[in-house]
Amino acid sequence: MGIGRLYTYTSLPNVTHSGAVEQSTAPQQEWQRYLDARQKVDDELAQLAKMDNPALADIFRVHQEILHDRLLTEGIRAAIDRGTSAATATQQITSELVQLFQNLSDDYFASRSVDIRDVGQRLLAHLSGVSLARQLTALPPNTILLAEDLTPFDATHLSPERVTGIALAASTPTAHTAILARSLGIPLICGVGSAILRLPSGLLAVVDGLHGRLLVEPDAELLTRYEQTGQRLLALRINAEAHSHTAALTRDGRLVLVHANVNSQEDMLQVANSGADGIGLLRTEYLFQERTTPPTVTEQIAAYRLISRQMAGEILTVRLLDIGGDKPVRYLPQISESNPFLGVRGIRLLLQHPELLRDQLQALVSLAVKSSFSGLVRILVPMVSKVAEVHRVLDVLDGIPGYREGHRPGGRLQLGVMIEVPAAALLADRLAPLVDFFSIGSNDLAQYTLAADRVNSAVASLASPLDPSVLRLIAMTCQAGQMAEIPVSICGEMAGDPSIFPLLFGLGVTEVSVVAPAVALVKEAVRQTDGDAARRLAERALQANSAQEVHRLLHPEG
Ligand code: PEP
Ligand code: MG
Repeated sequence: MGIGRLYTYTSLPNVTHSGAVEQSTAPQQEWQRYLDARQKVDDELAQLAKMDNPALADIFRVHQEILHDRLLTEGIRAAIDRGTSAATATQQITSELVQLFQNLSDDYFASRSVDIRDVGQRLLAHLSGVSLARQLTALPPNTILLAEDLTPFDATHLSPERVTGIALAASTPTAHTAILARSLGIPLICGVGSAILRLPSGLLAVVDGLHGRLLVEPDAELLTRYEQTGQRLLALRINAEAHSHTAALTRDGRLVLVHANVNSQEDMLQVANSGADGIGLLRTEYLFQERTTPPTVTEQIAAYRLISRQMAGEILTVRLLDIGGDKPVRYLPQISESNPFLGVRGIRLLLQHPELLRDQLQALVSLAVKSSFSGLVRILVPMVSKVAEVHRVLDVLDGIPGYREGHRPGGRLQLGVMIEVPAAALLADRLAPLVDFFSIGSNDLAQYTLAADRVNSAVASLASPLDPSVLRLIAMTCQAGQMAEIPVSICGEMAGDPSIFPLLFGLGVTEVSVVAPAVALVKEAVRQTDGDAARRLAERALQANSAQEVHRLLHPEG
């Protein structure tokens, strides 16, 4: 919750070059001006990349890579050689690249267009001597910032002492600006629409990050309510963080492990302090992308050991490579698919490249039976839709020395499958006897159940994991897990919303895995949950007609 006075920030006209095409007769001089500006930006970014916060430091390292990218540099050089000034060339080429990236259908790449624009802004600032940050650093205290979008550059000039909330006309929750705002603790809502930019500055407003709302000129009663809610949420977070390293038991005494999701080595710094009971999902894609050859078994063992040494807790769940479809890697032949999410992805791709599958399994078996890691290594198979796929993975495992030893009862190796395709949920009772645990991937389960592409914002509202159809598949999975006496975890984004935990528990979920910053609050939600009440809630949710109805069950207060 953020309360303050509106201020409309018009970042773009300020930071882009005037638009006039400046001609130059001295390309060599202009090129030198560009190189000087690039050096200054490089120094600036190197300084920022040294900051303590790994998530932020990472962003600036990516910006350094963009700054030296061949496409950008060669484009600018060519434009300067054609006779434009360094500033115009920078403006033109970065705009072209921003456009190019914005038009890519993959959300991840589309949101990277903000990074390119950011780097362009920095270059232009030096080339035209404009101080971009002045507007943001001079904001009065208690400001609610309204903007079309903010770049990470803008965001580094925000101070939580001055900016109490942000509402963006555009942008998505996966963009870097949202990550930055989250780490600064500033409530942010995005994708609100450009009408907000017409609101006059100076009006009193509330950014309600819980419900994704901007309330302008609230009356005194509403304002008091928001102030109280804000205080309550702050107290809850402080209290939750004080207990985050203690095990979470429901009111009726059931232990619920709250694990962390990890997407990169850098995530581990946050995970170590989060109080997570272990790692419930290590997305290993980071080890395989941005390279020209796949990592060797030795390289993989080293990477998994590093993670295992940095974690607290006893369980390390490593998901096998989940690429393909819209996430290409350079060393695999690129197949063009018109429906990549319905294509060769996850285990389907691994079975087509048995050497990749075998190497990764070998590295994980070795981690469990040969390394100093004393915990449990859980291997997780993504995108399973057939029982035969699990048999094929088991066949490969059987041929790996050490597997039998690690996998015997009481051993340190387990095998599980992601339940993220409706077929897997529907066949959960067939899959359960073959594996040691289930992990429900609600992000994909929702997109496949509701036939709504998870990266297409036009159908985003259809793909709610709270839809009763998805909940029924979750319930079915939990029943099969219970029958086979195996744990059923959930690692999709919905698990990170503390208000959803009672419903998941009522459906039969026994463990959760969430982003590190959510661990403390989800553990607190576990402690507030009563098994019987949760089961009654789940029964009602399974009978609901829509996700909205389920949402109302979870938030009866509105
Ligand atoms: C999921 O699908 O819910 C999941 C956790 O996997 P990913 O988001 O990596 O596809
Ligand atoms: Mg998935």
